[in-house]
Amino acid sequence: MTARLEVIVGPMFSGKTERLIARLHRAQYARKRVRIIKPAHDTRTQGSIAARAVNPDGTTEVTATLNAIMVRNAADFAAVTAEGDYDVLAVDEAQFFPLDEPMTDSLGWFGRAIRTLLREKAKSDLRIIIAGLDMDFAEAPFGPIPGLLAMADHVEKLTGVCMICGSDGGYISHRIIPGEAQLVVGDAGEYQVRCRSCYEAPGIRGAVAAAE
Ligand SMILES: [Zn+2]
Repeated sequence: MTARLEVIVGPMFSGKTERLIARLHRAQYARKRVRIIKPAHDTRTQGSIAARAVNPDGTTEVTATLNAIMVRNAADFAAVTAEGDYDVLAVDEAQFFPLDEPMTDSLGWFGRAIRTLLREKAKSDLRIIIAGLDMDFAEAPFGPIPGLLAMADHVEKLTGVCMICGSDGGYISHRIIPGEAQLVVGDAGEYQVRCRSCYEAPGIRGAVAAAE
């Protein structure tokens, strides 16, 4: 028995939440107790995680949902993970859990809490599955995700379909509205999956560059 961390990353509309929900359904069939959390910062869906697909006309639709506990901060996370028993802890949109300001490590409170939980439950069957964006719109590593990738036992990196050329190499969520702030919660009206050759980097690169 050993605890395990799985991380699913990729741009928007690459099917991260769909993969997460598929793994959770499988775990539920196996009678595992599943607990799902999500950053309260993500205002698109409250109280659930939602897999969304982009239609050919640019609209999006929700294809699957599971109920989730909204977590605002480290205290919320500690309370949610301390109570009761669960076999699988799932976290969606984990890029929204911020790093420290000023930055002290590549984990932030969320990554450190995951590390602590894995250490405490190392000799158990606990399975933690985290999904999130690996990069922001400016190709900057996003929040605690890179640190979590480093700690993971298993990583799945997904791509989407490039909205410009149609290739399968969509690796980034290109922002099609102006602005330099890293945290703009958006949908298909604000972001477009693009491949490396169709991606246009913004003038000022990401929150880290902007702060320097
Ligand atoms: Zn392309």
